[in-house]
Amino acid sequence: MLFRSPMNCPGHIQIFNSDLRSYRELPLRYGEFGACHRNEPSGALHGIMRVRGFTQDDGHVFCTEDQIESEVTAFNALVRKVYADFGFKDVAVKLALRPDSRVGSDDVWDKAENALRAALQSSGLTWDELPGEGAFYGPKIEFHIKDAIGRSWQCGTVQVDFSMPARLGAEYVGEDNGRHTPVMLHRAILGSLERFIGILIENHAGALPLWLAPVQAVVLNISEAQADYVTEVVKTLRSRGFRVEADLRNEKITYKIREHSVRKLPYLLVVGDKEKAANVVAVRARGNQDLGQMSLDKIVERWQDEANSFAGTA
Ligand code: ZN
Repeated sequence: MLFRSPMNCPGHIQIFNSDLRSYRELPLRYGEFGACHRNEPSGALHGIMRVRGFTQDDGHVFCTEDQIESEVTAFNALVRKVYADFGFKDVAVKLALRPDSRVGSDDVWDKAENALRAALQSSGLTWDELPGEGAFYGPKIEFHIKDAIGRSWQCGTVQVDFSMPARLGAEYVGEDNGRHTPVMLHRAILGSLERFIGILIENHAGALPLWLAPVQAVVLNISEAQADYVTEVVKTLRSRGFRVEADLRNEKITYKIREHSVRKLPYLLVVGDKEKAANVVAVRARGNQDLGQMSLDKIVERWQDEANSFAGTA
């Protein structure tokens, strides 16, 4: 089976080949958000989960055989951090091993498979092994995340490749002054950005965590008399780094609250004469929780705590 995006890999080899490389430069890591196209049959298209044009967080590491373990260990840590930040706690790890038809000697496969096992072990992960399911060019680790309704999606992967660098003439000068072929690791954390966003929205049922929500709060006035104060509140919260909008429409406050609640925004801040006079806002958190009045300093402190405590909680 080909890696999802065979186009970007040779491109990165060309960058590697653009200069004479020394072992001192390894590991050499390249990454890009690469545009990929696939002519999927129309029956296979599915929302943003399966599309014909997508973007992949594609990366390649050029390294020596001895560096596979440390590179994969570092990658495992990055994958887990990223998934935890997005709120995915249930991650299944699989190790796909040598297929019958393959390139490379058994010695090299032994070394690569053992390096991946050692990397998983030192990452503190448990994993399932899939004999025969590796690519012809090398073994791979797959990361499957489970969404809120129990479906499992393969997203991240790191694959060892013994084949492509040699076929495309990649080489480096070793410590012995001789020419050697580097090992190539193909890796992606999210896989397809479009599909990952789809999984993310479904996992949170549209109620994205505060740090991630495109709009974190809307400030609503009850009447025209508080319009200036709303504008001031929005300006202050934006200057503190939050994504906040004003809703100054001349509509009933109950109508405005209902409309924004349907959008599943993390916070609504309501302002009437009382709030304006006391220099506070009335805070409603998602799910109709009335948190009462708070000063802007207080709300900023709450949001910072909420954003920081969500990241990395898995
Ligand atoms: Zn690749």
